[in-house]
Formats: sequence, C-alpha cells, structure tokens
Amino acid sequence: MKIRKILVAVISLFMAAALLTGCGTASSTSGASDLPVIRLGSDSYPPYNYLDEDGNPTTTEITETVLVIELTHKTPDEMAADYHFTTRQNTYLQLLQDPQYEELWAELLGGFAQGGGELMNPDSTRTPTGTLQWPLPVAGTITSQFGHRVDPITGEVSSHTGTDIACAEGTPILAAADGTVTVANGLDSWGGSYGYYIQIDHGGGLETLYAHCSSICVTTGQQVQAGQVIGYVGHTGRATGSHLHLEVSVDGNRADVLRYFTL
Ligand SMILES: [Zn+2]
Repeated sequence: MKIRKILVAVISLFMAAALLTGCGTASSTSGASDLPVIRLGSDSYPPYNYLDEDGNPTTTEITETVLVIELTHKTPDEMAADYHFTTRQNTYLQLLQDPQYEELWAELLGGFAQGGGELMNPDSTRTPTGTLQWPLPVAGTITSQFGHRVDPITGEVSSHTGTDIACAEGTPILAAADGTVTVANGLDSWGGSYGYYIQIDHGGGLETLYAHCSSICVTTGQQVQAGQVIGYVGHTGRATGSHLHLEVSVDGNRADVLRYFTL
C-alpha cells in the first residue's frame, strides 16, 4: 500500500505561535488576565482511503492548521483570590451569590426581562395536530429542519436537534402548551450553545425547549399557560442570526416538532 502524506500544516508557523503564546491552555488559566487566548492548533482527519488512477489502494492523511480562540471567565471564588478580597468583601460576595438574587443579576446583565406573562394568539398558518400550538405570534421562516443538515458554522453534515424558525429579534416566544418551567437560563449568555433558553415540562413525558433568546421572562419552577409570553427571539449562544431554535422531546427523545402541525 502506497502511503502519501500531505501536510497542509505550516509546522514552523505553529511552533512560532506556540512559543509566543506559551503554548496550549496554560496561559489562559494562570495570571489575572481574562483576555481571550488566540493560538494556532492543528486538526487531523481520519485517513482517507481511495483507489488512485491505476487502481491501487491509496491512503491520504490530512492535517490542517486551525485558528483556536479560547475564551475563559473566572468564577467569583477565583476572582476573590486574584483580587485579594478582604473578609468583609468575601462576606458581601457570598451574600450577592444567594439564589434569591439570581433573577436580579440576570436582569442587570440583560438576560432577564421583567414583564411578559401576557397571553398572545399564536400564528394560525400552521394548524396543530396534537398537543402543541405554534410558539410565535408570527409564522416566521423555517430555515433549518430537524435531522441531518449542513452545519451553518462548520459546513459539515451534522444532526440538528431542533427546528429553526427565523423571525425578527424581539418577537415574543409563546409557551407551546401548559406546563412547568424546568430551565430558565437568563444568566449565562452562552448556555452550552443554546444561549439564553427555556425548557418546559408539559407532563406525560412531553418537553419543549426554546433557544437563542434575546432575553427570557420566566423563572425555574414557574407554571405557564399555552400562549403565554416566556421570552423574546434573539441570537444568543451558537447562532448566526435571529431565530427561535425549538426542540421537542418525548420521553427524553428528541422529535420533529413539525409533526405537531399541518401546513
Ligand atoms: Zn437550531
């Protein structure tokens, strides 16, 4: 077997960058700096096997140089240590971290909006076939369906866990059915790629999730009604534009939400 190696990586450049940045993640976790770390790294793909022009099996290995940007943030405890907080400052820090202030912090940081809660009529373009109603007062445009798709960010084929409905930033998001809010993330704007998001348990194993909100207006444990405003459309987390990423799960397995509607 003929093995041909193509190294796209510019190794010398990688080495130089590694020296400049102190190489790897160590530089991002030490010191008082909270700045993003930018470095060059390398990505390799599984060997690609194929027959060449003469019919001989051939293997190609490809390594690519990639730009890696690492963003880190410190926990309150790390900050207290780095800034040498006094006992009194640490006492205040503990008080401010009390769960009763979570909503206040989320509001200060922009992920929680007071108000909401009103009932609105869902758009009637799609007729419900089951227990869920349309989660927006507008039809929106379905830009990505549930299932396999070409990832809009990486360009690779991957599985899409929900349905993307593009509409204007700030459009109210309506609970698709009565239920209890089980996740109300208005604090962490990345939210594990979902951004600010809400999850509702509708009972009977049915759950819905609303991601990439500009802000939310419900809290964990809150009871909501179908059509109640729970948040607003945005593009927080891993999103390329303003849209609602809507997921539905049945007994913990994700399902295609469009099965709950006819056109
Ligand atoms: Zn999506």
